[in-house]
Amino acid sequence: MSEPAAKPVVLTCAQPTGRLHLGNYLGAVLNWGRMQDDHECYFGIVDQHAITVPTVPADLRANTYACLAQYMACGLDPARSRLFVQSHVTGHTELAWVLGCLCPLGQLERMTQFKDKAARQESVRAGLLTYPVLMAADILLYNAAKVPVGEDQKQHLELTRDLAQKFNHTYSDTFVIPEPYIAATGARVMSLQDPGAKMSKSDPNASATLFITDSADDIRRKVGSAVTDSGAEVRAAPDKPGVSNLLQILSACSGRPVAALEDDFRGKGYGDFKRAVTDAVEAVLAPVRSRFATFSADRAELDRVLKAGAEGAQRAAHRTLAKVHRKVGFVERPR
Ligand code: AMP
Repeated sequence: MSEPAAKPVVLTCAQPTGRLHLGNYLGAVLNWGRMQDDHECYFGIVDQHAITVPTVPADLRANTYACLAQYMACGLDPARSRLFVQSHVTGHTELAWVLGCLCPLGQLERMTQFKDKAARQESVRAGLLTYPVLMAADILLYNAAKVPVGEDQKQHLELTRDLAQKFNHTYSDTFVIPEPYIAATGARVMSLQDPGAKMSKSDPNASATLFITDSADDIRRKVGSAVTDSGAEVRAAPDKPGVSNLLQILSACSGRPVAALEDDFRGKGYGDFKRAVTDAVEAVLAPVRSRFATFSADRAELDRVLKAGAEGAQRAAHRTLAKVHRKVGFVERPR
């Protein structure tokens, strides 16, 4: 009997930034969960990237656990995928060193994200400059064929591809050249208070963002106070951004197309509409909230997940690093 074809490896990395919102869930994490069916998934919580800008240690630690519990609550499954913390897998920084020794300084200095972030810092840390090399190591360490990247990370993936090609050319064929993973388009969720801007965790207006761990009351209050318009028609249109956003949210949460929802609400007012949005969001988030409460109350279980994730990731990392170290001429460590 022939071996089943190996599933393509996908690596997804996210910084431990604290609370996830409905935009993160509908726009990204839901699709990451679906990838687990037909891909070998690695989900890295990249704490080493987080310290390229000033961070509060206690917050970083708490956010790392909170992130893990939220991802598990959203359906990332440690039984099917590797969920790990970057600093637990030493191969990331080891490979980053080797790749950094091949990387032209000028290419790092030209990265737009570096230029943007550096302009906002009083003193720029070397880690902020070399962070794309660490990101290249994250990806190449697992021979990831595909990497889900947003617009802002495309230049970094290009650098990863350049470094992989450079290594393969300088030594011999070693790395898979990763391609961007174009996930099924998730919903783009806008702020409830300013539907011209994306929903964001850092919005200063507390009513603008629906967090995935919000209570049923929070959801009712926030959707109830969402900006609409002075009309009364439930219809998606460029001059009705608030109603359009709520229709998008309702569609993503209920699985019904926007056109069918417009029919459902013909002749009804915004009150009925907002109640339906509230109920649909609550139906999606209630199980997430309850799983989050269970996972975050069980630190020992989170640690077990991280231990298993790190072991699995480290095994794959060692295979790559052994090859890399041999090719660059490092003497194998005597055992
Ligand atoms: P961030 O929290 O901005 O690092 O984003 C993490 C992931 O969530 C990325 O894949 C983003 O594209 C996605 N995302 C962030 N905000 C939204 C939003 N308002 N609507 C849809 N997707 C979003």
